[in-house]
Amino acid sequence: MNIPFLSLREVTALHGEEIREAARRVIDYGWYLQGRENERFEQDYAKYIGTDFCVGCANGLDALIWIFRAYIEMGIMSAGDEVIVPANTYIATILAITENGLIPVLAEPRLNTLEIDDENIEEHITARTKAVCLVHLYGRNAYTERIGALCKKYNLKLIEDNAQAHGCHTPDGRKTGSAGDAAGHSFYPGKNLGALGDGGAVTTDDPALAETVRALANYGSQKKYVFKYAGRNSRLDEIQAAILDVKLKYLDEDNAHRKAIAGYYYENITNRLITLPDRLPEGQNVYHLFPVLVSDGRRDALQDYLAGCGIGTVIHYPIPPHKQECYARQGWNLPQLQLPVTEKIAAEELSLPIGPAITMEEVKVVVECINGF
Ligand SMILES: *Cc1c(COP(=O)(O)O)cnc(C)c1O
Repeated sequence: MNIPFLSLREVTALHGEEIREAARRVIDYGWYLQGRENERFEQDYAKYIGTDFCVGCANGLDALIWIFRAYIEMGIMSAGDEVIVPANTYIATILAITENGLIPVLAEPRLNTLEIDDENIEEHITARTKAVCLVHLYGRNAYTERIGALCKKYNLKLIEDNAQAHGCHTPDGRKTGSAGDAAGHSFYPGKNLGALGDGGAVTTDDPALAETVRALANYGSQKKYVFKYAGRNSRLDEIQAAILDVKLKYLDEDNAHRKAIAGYYYENITNRLITLPDRLPEGQNVYHLFPVLVSDGRRDALQDYLAGCGIGTVIHYPIPPHKQECYARQGWNLPQLQLPVTEKIAAEELSLPIGPAITMEEVKVVVECINGF
């Protein structure tokens, strides 16, 4: 038996004919950037997320970089300002902050949700705090009413990293990506809404922010050959926009399949070494990944054992951002980097196979192997 962690070939094959048709349409039309495919996808995705604007860009990291950069260009943030962010995120969230000369202030997650602990945010707020950057990690909603209220009370921008949570809902029934002031989305192939290459987008209700992001991602230009900002080339290919528009139609269906797989894991994993994160209320988890925590220092042994059964797993993520070499000499204003929850998650987390193409038969085998460990 061979059960890969995620087979992109199988994922693409689910809607293969329509995807090829969309790509062929763009190839034959002969217009490859900034055209009708981007326009259509941006409209459809904004409608799906529930925001007034969507601006496509080159990838998810850029989407986040452009949000912070736009706030700087708009005079709302400036170098040295602080952004509160969960310590247990993928490095891209942190890179988007440091790339702009802003300072990431790392907040601990909760062990039972794996998301930022909303009781841990207020103590990090200083006179220089300008934003909270939420990450809906693993496809799990991280927004709480309390976070929304804190941002209002202290006049902070609420930015969402929605790279892993396309289609997820907040407790008040909005889509993640529409809960704050702006959100960055990634369409990296393995994400719930994945392109066949790189892609990203910013969603927001703020017209000035949308306009600034659009300019920044197009060399800083709003008018041909006139450059308002020193931007970059960070655009979404027409071919990817066309493919994303096809896959967007099936996103809810694909997420429902993920949910069924996750339900089987929740109901059938009985190995006492394994702790599953809290099962969130309906709609608040789109199961981008299925993380479990493995106790007694047995995580790597379980991963090896499953590999021996032909089952692929991945650790998200083995080294947290504050332990990465790229930040070793940055002199972050974080003298007492005591992040035991984040470090425990890095030491114990293992992601089990999940996705729109894995079958229930395969998942049953995964559970049997896990329970036999
Ligand atoms: C994938 C991801 C990103 C970055 O997206 P890319 O498109 O790969 O640049 C950012 N944040 C999180 C949480 C991610 O998982």
